[in-house]
Amino acid sequence: MVSTSCCSKAVLGSPISSMTGRTSKATPTIRRVDTSASDPPTDPSRHGCASSRRPLGAPINLKAKRSTSVSYIPMALTADRWARRGKPITLIADAFAVRVDTDGHGAARSVTWRLGRTGEVHTEDARAIVLACGTVETPRLWLNSGLPNPNGWVGRGLTDHFVDAVTGMMPFDTGSSRGPGCGARIDFPGVGMLEPVGETPGLRAALSAFSDAGIPGFYDNGLPGGAHGADLVGRLLGKDLKEAMANVDRLLNIDVFTDDDVEMQNGVSLSSSFPPDEHGPVPRIEIHHRNRSARTIGNREFLVGQAVSLLRKLGAKKVYRINKPPFIIHSHSTMRMGLSADDSVLDGSAEARWVKRLFVADNSALANGIGGPNPTLTTQALATRTAEIIYIRYFGGHPWVDREEPVSSVDPVVTRAVVRAGLA
Ligand SMILES: Cc1cc2nc3c(=O)[nH]c(=O)nc-3n(C[C@H](O)[C@H](O)[C@H](O)COP(=O)(O)OP(=O)(O)OC[C@H]3O[C@@H](n4cnc5c(N)ncnc54)[C@H](O)[C@@H]3O)c2cc1C
Repeated sequence: MVSTSCCSKAVLGSPISSMTGRTSKATPTIRRVDTSASDPPTDPSRHGCASSRRPLGAPINLKAKRSTSVSYIPMALTADRWARRGKPITLIADAFAVRVDTDGHGAARSVTWRLGRTGEVHTEDARAIVLACGTVETPRLWLNSGLPNPNGWVGRGLTDHFVDAVTGMMPFDTGSSRGPGCGARIDFPGVGMLEPVGETPGLRAALSAFSDAGIPGFYDNGLPGGAHGADLVGRLLGKDLKEAMANVDRLLNIDVFTDDDVEMQNGVSLSSSFPPDEHGPVPRIEIHHRNRSARTIGNREFLVGQAVSLLRKLGAKKVYRINKPPFIIHSHSTMRMGLSADDSVLDGSAEARWVKRLFVADNSALANGIGGPNPTLTTQALATRTAEIIYIRYFGGHPWVDREEPVSSVDPVVTRAVVRAGLA
């Protein structure tokens, strides 16, 4: 564990987690679980999206998926219970970091945050500060703090996988509305990935109209790309929509995630038209979705072609391509790491180039869209690497990542610690 302050992602809204031990208010509003019940849910294999017998009653570290809120955060809160010399973090819920200040040498010195319930403002000094507010709020915090931006790349270079979706009407029951959200992925290195995704009827209906390609047969907004063998490109309307919804469990949907280029034109800045909120000027997200690079467009078209072909080979009677507008389910690289100081904000260790002792550990630190896959595990792995760097560089610690046996967040020692701490 490193001793650092960070505005961090978590289960509890907008917390600040601090390991300096000087923050007084630790108010995690975590529900308690009835651990006295029989059949304790200690087997992680039972807590997948669809297979869990008691997912709602499981200790928080055994909940489905491995988001930070159910993995790193419960581990950090109970570190003293499962790790030798481990120190638990202090987690302050409902706190919103509003400013990072620097010292006379331009190094990060303190974080100021505001408590949502009371409006109280607190400032704490730290030896190192980690921003992890996500791809929109991290650059916003940087810009609202007036931190340096000499090359103009703070907030820029947003990648979003230029998503699309291709849906087949299959001659068999797909269980689309009943099964897990997603159970497989096909990677095409250098191009992107395809992911079959189950959808509830409501989501299906909404996404059927979520198109940038207009109404099939009437107009297409001049979008690049083609049908690649699909019967329709664009919004489903009238009889087509009725047919799709009447057969919602015969639909097989494949989401398309493109390995998209980092382009400076896409990114986050401060809005000059919306009024500031209680945390200062609000962010403005800009994506020139009809002006992507030729490589990005080519990658997406290739993936759509692969999805159509896959569905046809599986026997699809009809295939629809939605041609989605920006649907920012994955976002990355707005505070990107890079080898060159000309087009990056962070150096190769995720430390800010122009503000020492300031690190970024969320998706915005990624150098690019990492090729198209779901990004969270990569970001968590990068955050682990960054934590080790901070520990060595600013706390005189020793490397541990490739020397110690990693402890998984679903390890029984963590489960026991979480249960004993009453975390649900
Ligand atoms: C519907 C949906 C489904 C997804 N499914 C997957 C998936 O299956 N697999 C996958 O890998 N990815 C998935 N993603 C993407 C995944 O959610 C992101 O990759 C991940 O959450 C990004 O983590 P982050 O730390 O960058 O940002 P976030 O998770 O957004 O964390 C930022 C945190 O900082 C807090 N915060 C913001 N500003 C401040 C501030 N000023 N002070 C204090 N706190 C602040 C926020 O409240 C938030 O908790 C999905 C996304 C969506 C929307």
